[in-house]
Amino acid sequence: MATDNNKTVIIGAGAAGLMAANVLASQGREVILLEKKHQPGLKLRITGKGRCNITNTAQREEYFKHISNAKFFAPAFDNFSNEDLIRFFENRHLPLSSERGGRIYPQSNKALDVFLTLLEPLESNPLVDIRKECVAEHLVVRNGKIEGVDTNLGRIVCKNVIIATGGCTYPSTGSEGDGYDLAEEVGHTIVEPLPALVGLRTRDGYPRQLQNFEVKNCEILLTGKEHKILWRMFGDIYLDEYGVSGPVILTLSRDIAEQLDRGERFFITIDYKPKVSKEKLLEEIKQVFSQRRTEEVYSVLRKWFAKPMVEDVVKVCRLNGRTMAKNLTDKEFNSLLWYMKERKMEIIGDMGWKEAIITKGGISLKEIDPNTLQSKKVKGLSFCGEVIDLDADTGGYNLQIAFSTAVLAAQNI
Ligand SMILES: Cc1cc2nc3c(=O)[nH]c(=O)nc-3n(C[C@H](O)[C@H](O)[C@H](O)COP(=O)(O)OP(=O)(O)OC[C@H]3O[C@@H](n4cnc5c(N)ncnc54)[C@H](O)[C@@H]3O)c2cc1C
Repeated sequence: MATDNNKTVIIGAGAAGLMAANVLASQGREVILLEKKHQPGLKLRITGKGRCNITNTAQREEYFKHISNAKFFAPAFDNFSNEDLIRFFENRHLPLSSERGGRIYPQSNKALDVFLTLLEPLESNPLVDIRKECVAEHLVVRNGKIEGVDTNLGRIVCKNVIIATGGCTYPSTGSEGDGYDLAEEVGHTIVEPLPALVGLRTRDGYPRQLQNFEVKNCEILLTGKEHKILWRMFGDIYLDEYGVSGPVILTLSRDIAEQLDRGERFFITIDYKPKVSKEKLLEEIKQVFSQRRTEEVYSVLRKWFAKPMVEDVVKVCRLNGRTMAKNLTDKEFNSLLWYMKERKMEIIGDMGWKEAIITKGGISLKEIDPNTLQSKKVKGLSFCGEVIDLDADTGGYNLQIAFSTAVLAAQNI
């Protein structure tokens, strides 16, 4: 049995755990950082499609609009804001750049550089002991106080533990929901974890050849019961055989995750030509078909659709692709118009944990002090990162949650 009484054990070396370890080490505190995988930061290294969207330049009030519980998050953000985070990396010689929508990336466009900026000072610091392939299995709690952590490599005796185990998404990176079990075992309540920022499965998918096919500048309409319009947004989407994804859909998925899980019905309507009215588009369709009357329908459709989509248009609108354009009936023109402007599909679920960007739900906020991120149930226990019931839109907000909560939790040990 190792006795590391004065050391703080951080469970999970992801974005939050690495940042918490940096803060503690910079205060001269000893840290044991446990990572269940063979390498720390596996998820951090794939963020932002390998480029890592670290944070967002949005002002405080705007920032909070993108976070699930701004009131809870405010003390962590005020203590270590997006500006502080930018300074943190720049002071460590990681130049950053700002892109569309205020998204901040490393200038190198490499998530690996963000990861290394956090890891390297820890590796060279004698106060920090990084234990890889070390899985925290249980917390040792006596009389309401932390006394240690049981791991696959034995018990570590300590007075302070920070749970930074992340959520359940991309489980191959090590985030498999362990933190929920660890916290639940010692009396914490878990708000049901759900995949969020995730593609949505539709009853009618798209043909296989459309795997991740991008369609730019669509209008997406979400309707619920009795055709009530719940949401309308412009943006780019990706189609595949299971349904739809892309930035707009990810944002939408976060808003409806709970209701979808409860079995509520939702429909999505895609307007591929939002800038043209239905009347004008119908006129245009008829005109083009009349001008190209001796061409095959397949070929005429290429005017509006990329090749891989034409097959789907023909199938869904029940057209004969090989017939001459002049043979199309008014009913078929209307069918085409419907496909372009208001094809409606039922959402039947999401793409699941393997593809979700974040977890909605987690350790209940009611049982965590927002000013310290310490457990209200167990002395010596704190939380940071995605394991907490906090989540946000895409745009760098989720990593900011991880970093801000990590700093606050570590400073309050
Ligand atoms: C593909 C993808 C792209 C993303 N891109 C962005 C982006 O560009 N910008 C953004 O803001 N957000 C992004 N996110 C979200 C962001 O990555 C997460 O919000 C963030 O990583 C959460 O940090 P965390 O430290 O709380 O958890 P994680 O990064 O998930 O780290 C948790 C760590 O704990 C370890 N662990 C788990 N259980 C145990 C245990 N029992 N014992 C020991 N170790 C354990 C895990 O192995 C893991 O290393 C993305 C997510 C994904 C999946």
